[in-house]
Amino acid sequence: MEQPNQAKIIIAIDGHSSCGKSTVAKEIAKKLNYIYIDSGAMYRAVTLFALRNKIAKNEQVDVKALVACLDDITIEFRFNPVTSRNETYLNGDNVEEEIRQLPVSQHVSPVATISEVRERMVALQQEMGKNKGIVMDGRDIGTVVFPQAELKIFMTARPEVRAQRRYDELTAKGQQVSFEEILANVVERDRIDSSREVSPLKQADDALILDNSDINREEQLDWVLQQVQQTTNA
Ligand code: C5P
Repeated sequence: MEQPNQAKIIIAIDGHSSCGKSTVAKEIAKKLNYIYIDSGAMYRAVTLFALRNKIAKNEQVDVKALVACLDDITIEFRFNPVTSRNETYLNGDNVEEEIRQLPVSQHVSPVATISEVRERMVALQQEMGKNKGIVMDGRDIGTVVFPQAELKIFMTARPEVRAQRRYDELTAKGQQVSFEEILANVVERDRIDSSREVSPLKQADDALILDNSDINREEQLDWVLQQVQQTTNA
């Protein structure tokens, strides 16, 4: 289903934490031969930098100190042919695994409320999408990063369903976590993401809603592909 160059579009996927945005975004990007960018990984990498440098701890972030360090943070994605995916690099180190762990999840939302951090990340993301042919997932992709995106999808699912999926994912990797702490983290991240002053998580007026609480992966992929087809044929 590769598109000729002139038909390439921008697909913005926003939504709540742990509702499978990256799964859909990756699958769509693969089908269309588009670039996939996980914008959350960029905020996670900044957070890891803050944790490593003791600028973030106990769920608090020293905003002034982090803003002063922004020029020392380089984030890139490099394609790994073995895993066939883009992996996140922080100042030259592969941090793909470490940014998914609970300490980063527990500090990322406060880091993502910092306007100077967001400005940097949004500028990088816009640069990545300048030639279109990109699927990007996050919280503000359809509203702030690419308000002109041809297709915007807003994903959600019930909090318990999302927490169960994240719990299964982490325990499958051998991490010792409790369902209750995962659920609390999911709910707390939704609260911070939706109520922050800068670029709060909200559905773009022209976004299509996808609630995947009660549908499976194939059904959801079919639905999104249908929307892509309708958008590119319009
Ligand atoms: O998508 P993921 O859950 O990995 O994102 C981690 C965190 O980064 C989110 O909880 C949110 O606070 C922040 N984020 C954001 N804007 C984005 C992507 C992620 O604020 N575009």
